[in-house]
Amino acid sequence: MESHDAIVIGGGVIGVSIAYHLARLGCRDVLLLERGQLGGGTTAQSSCIVRTHYSVPENVALARRCLAVFRDFAGYLEDPEADSGFTRCGLLIVAGEGPRADALRETLAVARAQGVDARAITHDEARRILPLLQLDDIAAVGWEPESGYADAYLTLTAFARNARRLGAVLREGVAVTGLVRDANGRVAGVATEQGPIAAGTVISAQNIWSREVAAWTGIDLPLTLSRHAVFTLEGPTPYARGLPVLKDLASPGKLYMRGYGGRQLLVGDGNEGETIAAPDTVQADVPLDYVAEIGEQVAHRLPAFAEAGLAASWTGVYDVTPDWNPVLGPLPGVAGLHVAYGFSGHGFKLSPVVGRLLAQSALGLPTDVPLAPYALERFAAGRLLAGRYGTGAVS
Ligand SMILES: Cc1cc2nc3c(=O)[nH]c(=O)nc-3n(C[C@H](O)[C@H](O)[C@H](O)COP(=O)(O)OP(=O)(O)OC[C@H]3O[C@@H](n4cnc5c(N)ncnc54)[C@H](O)[C@@H]3O)c2cc1C
Repeated sequence: MESHDAIVIGGGVIGVSIAYHLARLGCRDVLLLERGQLGGGTTAQSSCIVRTHYSVPENVALARRCLAVFRDFAGYLEDPEADSGFTRCGLLIVAGEGPRADALRETLAVARAQGVDARAITHDEARRILPLLQLDDIAAVGWEPESGYADAYLTLTAFARNARRLGAVLREGVAVTGLVRDANGRVAGVATEQGPIAAGTVISAQNIWSREVAAWTGIDLPLTLSRHAVFTLEGPTPYARGLPVLKDLASPGKLYMRGYGGRQLLVGDGNEGETIAAPDTVQADVPLDYVAEIGEQVAHRLPAFAEAGLAASWTGVYDVTPDWNPVLGPLPGVAGLHVAYGFSGHGFKLSPVVGRLLAQSALGLPTDVPLAPYALERFAAGRLLAGRYGTGAVS
């Protein structure tokens, strides 16, 4: 039977980063199995915003390490051709008077406590950064100058190329259909449509398909699937790549916006999304009523976009856990099996460090930061990673 030291299930940005880091940490016999094409899952739908604005301190610890990687991607991968497409344009966060403004100020302080450049700024300073801003209903403005956005395709392909350079095998078109266990219940490999493959370590990075792991093991993995719409607007003014990322906590949709392709504005909403029963990356309709409703909110904050037209739209699905934070590490009760799922719409930016942490944990090495807060057991124990904004992708 074909045999490897470690098998990664899933070739999204998380799985590919795990494979790369396993190889980098010395595990030279790594096999990644992807049912479709590398990056063809939810990674392809990502808005790719890279920020450290989190109120859960553990998330800041991950995000600030990731930001350092995105800023020096080629150096980190020791590959002069590696480019994550990272645009350091800064992140502006605005909130109206009340609990969200309080949460914003407290969240900036959480990041500052870990050495992140995250500050409250005046309205005048905010207008200097983004002259298009309408701030009449805004009480608090936060600014993270180091943040920005990257490119999912470039990031994933750089991890994949370097995983292969270090000896990992990344195989497309192979669906994992089950786990192989030994007499003691320990993981001994995976079952695939093309036969079993042996490995003492298996890491699932299956995102919205992670319920398959629950079916294979009988272990409940809390997960809801939430579909979100994203669209781009093109206005009379072409915006350069320097347009900062904007998070509008004062808008009903808690919108996020960023530059797209040099001329357009990408817009997504921060609400719960549409719950769907089964994992599916097929594109759903983005109703024009929705675009009009969200477009009005955009025009309220950025009046220059009042006349903008719809350029493109798509949908994407989040793998949401009860506290909107991921589950990372060994799965209790099944020795040799590890999971990384539940990124709840904010996993792209975490991919460099999550890959390294999962590789460290799977290889029995000390982890750079404790994984215990992200353990599956936290849900049953009531130790949720709850943030100051309540549940949501900015937790
Ligand atoms: C609309 C949208 C906007 C987002 N915006 C942001 C953002 O601005 N910033 C941010 O940080 N994050 C964002 N995210 C989240 C981020 O994109 C995801 O968390 C991240 O891409 C998930 O990567 P992944 O590798 O876990 O999942 P995926 O890319 O979905 O990869 C999972 C892979 O596993 C494969 N697979 C599953 N089961 C099997 C099996 N049995 N056998 C073989 N292969 C299997 C699938 O085919 C798939 O390719 C956004 C997500 C969406 C949907």
